[in-house]
Amino acid sequence: MTSTRTAAIDRYAPDETPVAIDLADNTNRWGSPPAALRVLRDTAPGAIARYPDAYSTSLKAALAAYTGVEASAIAIGCGSDDLLDAALRAFADPGDRIAIPVPTFSMMTTFARLNALEPALIPLDASFDVDVDAVVAARPRLVYLCSPNNPTGTLLPRATIEAVLERTGAVVILDEAYAEFSGVSAIDLVARSPRLLVARTLSKAFGMAGLRVGYAVGAPTLVRELEKARGPYKVSAASERAAVAAVTEDLGWMRAHAELAVGNRERLAVEMRRRDVDVISSAANFLLAPVADAHTFARRLRAIGVAVRAFSGLDGTALALAATRGSALRITVGPWPEMESLLAAFDRVRAACE
Ligand SMILES: *Cc1c(COP(=O)(O)O)cnc(C)c1O
Repeated sequence: MTSTRTAAIDRYAPDETPVAIDLADNTNRWGSPPAALRVLRDTAPGAIARYPDAYSTSLKAALAAYTGVEASAIAIGCGSDDLLDAALRAFADPGDRIAIPVPTFSMMTTFARLNALEPALIPLDASFDVDVDAVVAARPRLVYLCSPNNPTGTLLPRATIEAVLERTGAVVILDEAYAEFSGVSAIDLVARSPRLLVARTLSKAFGMAGLRVGYAVGAPTLVRELEKARGPYKVSAASERAAVAAVTEDLGWMRAHAELAVGNRERLAVEMRRRDVDVISSAANFLLAPVADAHTFARRLRAIGVAVRAFSGLDGTALALAATRGSALRITVGPWPEMESLLAAFDRVRAACE
């Protein structure tokens, strides 16, 4: 009854039981932009009986001003997940190969399988950079890059992105879900490369994960094909209005809280290293902390009120991860009192393990 594609994957199953401090999904621990909340409160009930704008024209205009590109170079999606998934249908055919440097956002491998593509998983090198020779050797139709990368938090050098574009004929999907925390973006490369698509989201720095809004920036010809593969009416009217308000009125709110996240991330890194945990230097709003037996550790943390994301068997050749054979905790950075609670819980669990 089921397709071989869905039969081959698991349903996404995050632990959704309530927890006092949830540092597991990299969303904004300071909340949401006030202008977005105001718009949601004020949205007229009459607006809800109608379909939204098919491709979110007013949000494109707002994001054009924010990113500095033309509105015709922007596609909007139901979260950036929607656009990452649609890109696989727009720019590759069943059986084609997609190169995915790992470890990275695991949904990408799932989307590849759902779209009948063949993922070529290519380990990141010892400095968390992409092995461009291996990507070229895979002869991919598509390449997925993520910078800052989830779950390592590491940035890709701009030269790596350029080399992948120059040395392959592939469409390159660059996931910049955490760009606001790094202050770095390759969106300007879109003007030079008709094969680069940059995916962004309002789920992280903009604090709107529950509204499901993402966008992608690329050459207008690329964006057209992406919108065909995505389909119309993917973003609700309420989400679009709230997103427009956030992007036009509340950039100050977003930037101030991204800055707080960066400051607390560095403070947390110092505290973790003081505990002999060799956290990886991060450019995002989370830290990857190599810890033995991460799943057990995370279960014990959760039992005392703090959720983090556990990973095991993370691929790659980086020394920091080799020491625990790819076992690590990914910790979302939030307000400092939450970080203090996390550290206290971490110390309790570690003491109980010894
Ligand atoms: C969180 C995240 C996303 C965002 O997904 P949305 O569907 O926009 O909520 C995309 N890519 C990466 C790497 C992420 O970590």
